[in-house]
Amino acid sequence: MRFHKAESAFFVFIALVLGAGVLLFFAYGILRTDANTILPLYELEAVSEFAQLLFTTGVLLATAIVFGIFFIYPLIRIQVREEGKLRAMTESLSARSQSLEHAALTDGLTGTQNRRFFDDALREYLLEFRRIEKPVGLMVLDLDHFKLVNDTHGHGVGDEVLRQVARCLKDMTRYHDVVARLGGEEFAIVAPNMNQDALVKLAERIRGAISVLGVEAGNIRLKITASVGLAVWDGRETADEFYRRADKMLYQAKRLGRNRVCA
Ligand code: GH3
Ligand code: MG
Ligand code: MG
Repeated sequence: MRFHKAESAFFVFIALVLGAGVLLFFAYGILRTDANTILPLYELEAVSEFAQLLFTTGVLLATAIVFGIFFIYPLIRIQVREEGKLRAMTESLSARSQSLEHAALTDGLTGTQNRRFFDDALREYLLEFRRIEKPVGLMVLDLDHFKLVNDTHGHGVGDEVLRQVARCLKDMTRYHDVVARLGGEEFAIVAPNMNQDALVKLAERIRGAISVLGVEAGNIRLKITASVGLAVWDGRETADEFYRRADKMLYQAKRLGRNRVCA
């Protein structure tokens, strides 16, 4: 059993009072039994008064102990219990708000970040990278003919494709890259500190990895492809302008026949 600090302090206090009481008891005993034999009569009266004083102090100490145990200690217990309840409530509330915050910024289907997180993260990265003058890469990725997957194999298979693509993107990016599902079958990756060459290479690797995913639908394996638009931040444009430039590249990749990267 663990005691609260206030309870432990109370026990120490009671032990000290008890100790003082025991000492008093012995002193009183000594006075009562030995004084009669060793002291002259005229001093006995003073000693008797002193013994009475000790006795009264003993009674007061005993009263303090009874009062402490039956009145103060229950109050401490109530206080400790209420404090415990309050702490548990605060902890559960803060856990709840953390999980709500997590839910508000995460895509429920794929577990990647959502559009809201992406918008904030992109803005923050640009702010920071303007200061340190390093490149920021942006990749916008859209699955090809995804409607056909849904129409042919059902929404459940479509969802599984989205989950597997999301996992693939997560696996192929670095810890501080932001992988987000912007909606439907469109994903984006913010890759800080990545120049055009590195970004094109990464995008090609991702495009290749998606094309060999082979999601199972019944007894066939689906072939999924994606088109990718890339942009590296020019250091001046807003997050919105930057995104629109990458999106234009995605549109071009679609126009040129899909399953390709355009930068
Ligand atoms: P394109 O190559 O031009 O991108 O063609 P597409 O078919 O991929 O694009 P389109 O915009 O015509 O269709 C997107 C489809 O994505 C339509 C919609 O049913 C599907 N979709 C959107 N969100 C979800 C989802 O959460 N789960 C599933 N299974 N499908 C989704
Ligand atoms: Mg599509
Ligand atoms: Mg789309």
